[in-house]
Amino acid sequence: MRRGLAAAVGAAALALSSLLVGAGPASAQDANDSRSVVTTPGGREVVARHYGPLDAPVQLVVLGQMHGSEPGGRRVVKVLADTAPPEGVGVWLIRSLNPDGAVVGRRTNDNGVDLNRNFPTRWMQDGAGRMFWSGPEAASEPETRGMMAFLDEVRPTALISYHQAMNAVDTSHARSRAAARRLARWMGVPATAVPCALPQCHGNLTQWVDRRLGAIAVTVELDRQVSRIEARRAAAAVLRLGTWLGR
Ligand SMILES: [Zn+2]
Repeated sequence: MRRGLAAAVGAAALALSSLLVGAGPASAQDANDSRSVVTTPGGREVVARHYGPLDAPVQLVVLGQMHGSEPGGRRVVKVLADTAPPEGVGVWLIRSLNPDGAVVGRRTNDNGVDLNRNFPTRWMQDGAGRMFWSGPEAASEPETRGMMAFLDEVRPTALISYHQAMNAVDTSHARSRAAARRLARWMGVPATAVPCALPQCHGNLTQWVDRRLGAIAVTVELDRQVSRIEARRAAAAVLRLGTWLGR
C-alpha cells in the first residue's frame, strides 16, 4: 500500500511539474552554437542561438522581436528553443533585436530609431521625432549593422520576423510569397500584403534580406495577445516550413 501511495504521489508530482512547464519537454535543449549579434546602445547583448544540425541544408533565422512594444514573438522563440527541429533543418533563434526598447515597452531603440526603418534598402529619412523615425542615416544603428553582419555570415534559407498585432502573414515579397502563404495556412491566419510605411515600405529588415541576400524573408504579424496554444501553433508552422523548404 505504501509503495502504491508513493507511486501515486510521484505521479501527481510529475503531473504537476508537467503542468507547470507545459506539455512540451521539461527543459530547453542545449544550443549547439551561439553568436553575439550586437551589444545595444543600452549595453545589452543580443545573442543568436542555433539548434539542430549546423550543416543542415535548410537554415532558418527566427527573430522574436524588433519593436520593443511587440513581445508576442518571443513566446514563439521560447517554444522553438524547447523543440528539436525536424531532419534537415537548423534554426537560429534571436529572442529580441531590441532589448532596450523591450524593457520599457517602446517601439524604438535607445536612440529613438525604428529599427525596421533603418536597414539600407530603399532607406529614406522619415518620421523624425516620432516612433517611426528611420534614423539619421541608413544602417545608423548598431542593432541594424549587427543583424546585417550576422545574416551575411550565416546566410539563412529563410528569415521569419515577428511583429504585432495585425494577425496576418505578409505576402509583399514575391520571392517569399509561397512560403508566406503556407506559413499563414499552418498558423490559421490570413496571408495578405501587410501595409507598411507611406509612400512605400522603406528600410525594412525583410526588404534587405529579400534584395541583398536573395533569401526568403517573411514578416509575421501576430495577434495582440499570443496564447500558449497560438505560440505552439506558430512554432510548429515554422518547423513545417523548414521541412517544406528542404523538399
Ligand atoms: Zn513591429
